[in-house]
Amino acid sequence: MYSVIICYRCGQYLLAKDSQKTKQCPYCDARLVLVQTKKVRRAETAQQASHLLRSLKEKRRTKTNE
Ligand SMILES: [Zn+2]
Repeated sequence: MYSVIICYRCGQYLLAKDSQKTKQCPYCDARLVLVQTKKVRRAETAQQASHLLRSLKEKRRTKTNE
């Protein structure tokens, strides 16, 4: 399983594999402990997960433009 998580330092959406314990944020270089991050979506495959990630980012962009 994959999760879309939110970086607790910079607030960006990221993809994480459930087997991982930590993940480095590509935006701010924070070392994220996955159990402490907020999981906003779950997906079965990496492809699904990246699709979710994309649509979340789109949504956020539309929101900030309002
Ligand atoms: Zn970050």
